[in-house]
Amino acid sequence: MLPMEQVDAVVIGAGVVGLAVGRALALSGREVLVLESENAIGTGTSSRNSEVIHAGIYYPAGSLKARLCVKGKGLLYAYCAERGVAHRRLGKLIVATSPEQVLALDGIMAKAAANGVHDLQKLSASQAKALEPALACEAALLSPSTGVVDSHGLMLALQGDMENAGGLLALVSPVQHISLRQGSATHPIVVQTQDGTELACKALVNAAGLSAVALARRMDGLDPSLLPQAHYAKGNYFTLAGKAPFSRLIYPVPEKAGLGVHLTLDLGGQAKFGPDVQWVEDPADLQVDARRGDAFYAEVRKYWPGLQQGALQAGYAGMRPKINAPHEAAADFMVQGPAEHGVPGLVNLLGIESPGLTSSLAMADEVCARLA
Ligand SMILES: Cc1cc2nc3c(=O)[nH]c(=O)nc-3n(C[C@H](O)[C@H](O)[C@H](O)COP(=O)(O)OP(=O)(O)OC[C@H]3O[C@@H](n4cnc5c(N)ncnc54)[C@H](O)[C@@H]3O)c2cc1C
Repeated sequence: MLPMEQVDAVVIGAGVVGLAVGRALALSGREVLVLESENAIGTGTSSRNSEVIHAGIYYPAGSLKARLCVKGKGLLYAYCAERGVAHRRLGKLIVATSPEQVLALDGIMAKAAANGVHDLQKLSASQAKALEPALACEAALLSPSTGVVDSHGLMLALQGDMENAGGLLALVSPVQHISLRQGSATHPIVVQTQDGTELACKALVNAAGLSAVALARRMDGLDPSLLPQAHYAKGNYFTLAGKAPFSRLIYPVPEKAGLGVHLTLDLGGQAKFGPDVQWVEDPADLQVDARRGDAFYAEVRKYWPGLQQGALQAGYAGMRPKINAPHEAAADFMVQGPAEHGVPGLVNLLGIESPGLTSSLAMADEVCARLA
């Protein structure tokens, strides 16, 4: 922790969102300090996800998820190209494996169009098979703007930009307590880290991921009735031994909650299936139960009959910072700024689950606008 007493802006959390916010604030001319509890950047959800650049197809029209994903996708592709961050615009197929699902494809196209995603192409079974010979389906949608990104490379680039613009990152600096109105007239917010260091700031952005709701509850001067309940949903991945059978991402037509057991590829072309949805009490519970893979086989064989028994291996898991309970509809991103809670200079970022990686640069612009 640096011996600094006052700073324009503090960002809590050096995941992809906190780093994108830190970069944007530094580029806008503010003095910025990003405080991270761990000894490295991006050790939270930002390094336990699918690394997919989502097109923005499924989110409710007008939601923050829809708006920030579609805007963020464009910003992210441009940023990766400019800064040399590894990424690939692989494309994705949404595959219908029953007559009812074929009918659902038109609804998906309409939903995407309402979000400003106009590049989906409807494919017949033979057109889809011509692209991906291992595929079994009755029809499909091709999303050409879906891709994958090296999330760690992205975070390093964001950190580099922030530091070049004068921003600072302090690792091993867990924020313990926050008083929103105890500082001076110019720097009213006081942030205290675990070692007792106190820092006064004009602006504070809580990008603490899985801890963001708990941290907001510990802010003196914030009305706790405005805060949602935190819930956690683990997403388990199973990896495929050997060569990937597809060159694009493959998603079934979503049926219930979640996107179904889908196949994504990393930048090296290695395939993984998942994430599934397992509601848990403890956000630190990242163990993958190998038995959950049993349920994957039947789902995957609907679109890839060639999947051999025993080919899937337990991979890793990520944790979704949910702000809706299991029985409730999926919540939107919750960005609470001064207009929502009445505290000047404070922005809380709550429930930043998928598509938070895709949305990170757009989220940073959103935070700057709320602080302006
Ligand atoms: C299974 C899964 C798959 C996903 N797949 C995708 C995908 O393919 N595409 C996509 O766009 N999105 C995806 N997402 C969502 C995306 O990963 C997240 O939205 C994004 O990584 C959130 O970043 P963040 O910076 O908000 O949080 P995090 O990466 O969790 O960062 C928060 C940081 O805050 C730090 N911190 C916490 N408390 C404190 C404290 N008190 N003091 C200081 N620091 C603190 C933590 O150590 C951590 O480094 C997925 C998410 C999951 C769970």
